Order: sequence, then structure tokens, then C-alpha cells
Amino acid sequence: MRFAFVAAASILLALPALAADRGRAPLPPGTSYVREGSEFAVTQIRPALFALSEPDYYQHNVSYVIVGEDRALVIDAGASTTEDMTRAVRRLTDKPFAVIPTHLHYDHLGSIHHFQEVWLIDVPATRQLVRKDGYTYVPPERHIATAAEFSATPFKVSRYIKPGDTVDLGDRPVQILFAPGHTRDEIAIYSPLDNILFTGDFIYPASLFSGNAQDYLAAADKVLATINRDTKIYGAHPGRPKDGVTELPLVTYDELVSARAAFARMAKGAPPDETISNPAPTGGFKMTAAKVYRASPRIRVLGDIVFADRSALSYPDGK
Ligand SMILES: [Zn+2]
Repeated sequence: MRFAFVAAASILLALPALAADRGRAPLPPGTSYVREGSEFAVTQIRPALFALSEPDYYQHNVSYVIVGEDRALVIDAGASTTEDMTRAVRRLTDKPFAVIPTHLHYDHLGSIHHFQEVWLIDVPATRQLVRKDGYTYVPPERHIATAAEFSATPFKVSRYIKPGDTVDLGDRPVQILFAPGHTRDEIAIYSPLDNILFTGDFIYPASLFSGNAQDYLAAADKVLATINRDTKIYGAHPGRPKDGVTELPLVTYDELVSARAAFARMAKGAPPDETISNPAPTGGFKMTAAKVYRASPRIRVLGDIVFADRSALSYPDGK
């Protein structure tokens, strides 16, 4: 039952593109929109593991759905502020499901208030966002969408998970690793049965944005001690499309090792490989300054980032 949609979707792939989908981003083989006109496209990675991507969104966010015997876990709440992502999830599974954001930036929180069950990492940086009425509110300086059309809707957290704890979805344990560095609330999620690590914005195959170099380095060491060379690493942003087609953001173990070396150079204040100085910035993030450390052909790490509106990604040690 829960895979009925995917079977139907693969039949659809053989047919000409739906009229409403013409002019949209082309999808890689094995991927299809969850329904005509939806912003979400689905790729079945394994029998009970799906990627929900947003091919037309400029950052091409990818969220993931792991289905266990008892429940499903959705990793990230999407970027869309116009479509309820829970409807897309409902097409993939009839189990109850919870969402856990990899961090609290706006492009990972789009549908968070639509989810009945929200899990968060149990650290001071998340607990401090709970208001008197019990709802969690992410202020603009934390979700960084001062320039985007995003207004944070408060949401209720149903479960806090301690760093390093394992949660069983029924036959499918997942370990929640605290991996700050991009943000102070960043996590990575490891599924030992699949040998897959989901990394949000901790690592993906494009430019990484550092909020704290020491944290980033420590998180890389922790993650590398948990996974192995055969672990498949899925991030949240695919970077530049290849021939117009956006693939899933798969990172290799060696790329993570290279990124770790860049975090280490940044953490000890080594001179950057280049600097960005942009008095009249354009584009999504409107960045005016950053130090750039190259990690691999696809990955570079940006530190000491200054945005045009003076919002900051950097956060001080221990906060
Ligand atoms: Zn992101």
C-alpha cells in the first residue's frame, strides 16, 4: 500500500510530461512530482527511504523520509511556504510521521507548523526559543530570512532528543548526532541499517556556510567517528544543476574528510584560499564579504560571512 504511489509514478515517467509540468526544471531519471503542479518531487532511494526535493526552488532543497514499521521520520520541513509538505509525505506512507529539522534556517522550516509531531535536538539553543505559551518561535536572526519572503509560524515541539540518542522507528533505529558549526542547532542523522547519513547543511556538494569554525571541526570529527568509508552521505542542497538536471546531493566520505581539513585550517585562523569582497552584492544571499577555504572540486567552506543586511551567520563559541 505504502509504495503504491511510487509504482504508479514510475509508469508516469514513461509518458510524455504532464502539461502543467512543461517549462519546469527537468527531473533526473526515477524522480517525479508527487502530483501535477506540486512543488515537491519524490525519488525512492530504497524501499522505505525517499527524497522529497524542490527542483524549482533556487536552493533546490532536499528533505528525506525514512519509513519504519511503526512510524516515519521526515528530515527537514521543506522550503515551500505555499504548499503543505505533509500532503506530499502522506502520499509516501500511511504510518504516523514526525518531522525533525536539521537546523532552524528558513529554508528547512517551510511546513513545520503543518506537522502534528515535531522533534528537535535537546540543546540550549533550541530550548531558549520556547515562548511562555509553550510554542517555539524562531526569530529572524536565527532563521536568517530577513530578505526572503518568510515569516516564521510558531510550532509546538512534541519531543526533544538528546544529542547522540537513538530513536527507533520500529525495525529502523536512527541516531541523532549534534553537529553544530553551520548553525548552533545543526544535526546529522545516521541510519545504521541503511548505512546512510543525512546531513542537512552540515555538508552537501557545494559551498558550505560556517557559523563557527571550532564547532564545525569538532562536529566533523564526531561524525567521522560514527560513520565509515561505505556510508552514503545525503545533504540538503545539491548545488549547481548538471545539464539543467538537479541530482540528489550525495557526498563521498573523502569529500567529508577534505571538508574537515578546510574546517581545521579555518579554525586555526590559517589564511583563506581567497576572499569574497562584494560591495554591490546580488543573488539569493546578498553576501558582502567572506573568507573562502577550498575543500574539494565541489566543496568550499565560507567563513566570517557578512550579509548585505548585516545579518550574521557567525555565532560565538558555546552559544
Ligand atoms: Zn539550507
